[in-house]
Amino acid sequence: MALQHCDFLLTGIRELHTMDAGSVGVIAAADLESLPVIRDAAVAVLDGKVSALGPEPELRSQWQGKEVVDCGGGLLVPGLVDAHTHPAFAAERAEEFDWRAQGLSYLEIAERGGGILSSVRAVRQASEVELTAKVISHFQRMQAHGTVACEAKSGYGLSLEDELKSLRAIRAASTATGMEVFPTFLGAHMVPEEYANQKDQYVELLCQEVLPAVWEQGLARAADVFIEEHAFSLLRAERYLNSARDLGFALRVHSDQFVNVGGTELAVSLGAECVDHLETLSDAGLDALVTSGKTCAGLLPAVPHYLRQDADAPAQKLLKAGVPWFVATDFNPGSCYTASLPEAAHFARIRLKMTALEALAGMTLHAAQSLGAGDRLGRIAPGYEARFTVLDLPDLCHFGYGFGENPARIWCA
Ligand SMILES: [Zn+2]
Repeated sequence: MALQHCDFLLTGIRELHTMDAGSVGVIAAADLESLPVIRDAAVAVLDGKVSALGPEPELRSQWQGKEVVDCGGGLLVPGLVDAHTHPAFAAERAEEFDWRAQGLSYLEIAERGGGILSSVRAVRQASEVELTAKVISHFQRMQAHGTVACEAKSGYGLSLEDELKSLRAIRAASTATGMEVFPTFLGAHMVPEEYANQKDQYVELLCQEVLPAVWEQGLARAADVFIEEHAFSLLRAERYLNSARDLGFALRVHSDQFVNVGGTELAVSLGAECVDHLETLSDAGLDALVTSGKTCAGLLPAVPHYLRQDADAPAQKLLKAGVPWFVATDFNPGSCYTASLPEAAHFARIRLKMTALEALAGMTLHAAQSLGAGDRLGRIAPGYEARFTVLDLPDLCHFGYGFGENPARIWCA
């Protein structure tokens, strides 16, 4: 048989974890073991897409690559997708780390002038060029830890001008780094200081001016809100989410992190793509997610660690009940300062008691699906984009086993 030609032939793959769930968008935890794994594998890549995959001797007998890429005996997995990040910040908040060590809570830190509103002051002071440079450096750190695509939220501008600036910075940083970005507008992250006593007026500003401007300029595909006692009430969140949905935004929601006010039930009833955090998820919230079958549970296991919280999201309950999940970093300067998905996998395994495969599915197959890109990202299969993460590990069991080390590098056609 004549050899077929491809641009790249990737070889030297000890284990190829395809995460290829076939015709299914997401896969139940109990079925993860059925996903195809190929040992001593190779992948043929043509025009930026996967053409074929299989055992290396077989592929070598069928395909000739213009370039042969040796993966060095590592594991090849789909390029990691971080489905929850806040990269549009202009300054770190390391001093708060000491305050937390002194015993101040998240809310006490906010009252002392730290917290999200201190990030807002920094973003407002930064020029668009300065902010873009920061986001570029954040994306580069994520890429250095194996992330090829991310959801990226605004939310430290909290004015029309500064939110648009943040979303433009995210877009420019995506172009500069090659990081694929799924931008999310998070104008409802917190009520800014100038609206402290006029919360309803701020929500109206978002609904009547900011959301329409963001949508018109094509700067975000989704809108997000922080539903929490000290952020946005259920009623205000509902007003905001309805406006966003009417414009055409997909919905992603922060809920049930500190105090449960019923945000999960609201998000599910509005058809949100995901509800993220869930450390205080109620039985009613769990039931809503199970009944929906579509809204994804966004699990951010490094956050309770970072905040010294005891409570974790009830991941095992969610997985057993068949709720789709993703695992993300929540990369941000206050409550989770890590750009590393392998590190998030460690916390998923320690705190959420996940298997390596459950963590990996949450950063590939399911993360891509939650962002509406499950037909081209998140698995290694013919026709899928050739963007991969190489893990320098002896086997998948080692994923998240070590911490403080970086086993990941990306390879993109
Ligand atoms: Zn977040």
